[in-house]
Amino acid sequence: MDISDNIEKINDKIKSAAAQAGRSLEEIKLIAVSKKKSTDLIAAAHHCGLTNFGENYLQESVEKISSINSKEIDWHFIGNIQSKKSLQIAQYFSWVHTIDRAKIVNALDAAGKNLKVLIQVNVSEEKSKSGINENELMPLADIVIESKCLELKGLMALPSAPVDGKINEKEYEKMNMLSDQLKNYYSPADEISLGTSQDFELGIKHGSTMIRVGESIFGKR
Ligand SMILES: *Cc1c(COP(=O)(O)O)cnc(C)c1O
Repeated sequence: MDISDNIEKINDKIKSAAAQAGRSLEEIKLIAVSKKKSTDLIAAAHHCGLTNFGENYLQESVEKISSINSKEIDWHFIGNIQSKKSLQIAQYFSWVHTIDRAKIVNALDAAGKNLKVLIQVNVSEEKSKSGINENELMPLADIVIESKCLELKGLMALPSAPVDGKINEKEYEKMNMLSDQLKNYYSPADEISLGTSQDFELGIKHGSTMIRVGESIFGKR
């Protein structure tokens, strides 16, 4: 496995997906999801020009972030949040993609550090999935907007896994529609975090501005 080859291939795919969607490359950020991957691999990906990394597990990520200790990297928390871990998340990360309840907004805000946050939407409405339902979006958005330190930047989703190889594109359309609603209400919240190794091209087609790619960069976990 060669990380620089992998990144080059992904960048090519991002380029063609953006062109096909008539979108500018500048509005699409590649977030390298480095959970369970070593600091050496992260450093290698950083060396290839990547500056945004996503982590899911707090303990593991705190160790890696401290050891890499680079001001050039933006760290994105993309895992489930326990409120008692909020202080540490706020200390180590600059972005949090998985805001799904008022308790977490308040706990992160109490850390007193500026944070860019996204509200996670359960677009597939699967019981097992995190994220809010559509009708909870505006009330939770208000709570984030009224917080002292949290900056509402947009929405995040993890659509359902393909069934018989078929992706449910409706979930991506719904995400795009919800993003339009949110932007109408609060224009700074214009980011959409959508798409993994499996589906980032579809994410880009439906307006994703942040794709979260793990295995296609770092190999299988
Ligand atoms: C692990 C993870 C990813 C990356 O998935 P890959 O299949 O490795 O690209 C993206 N988003 C979230 C929320 C994740 O937990």
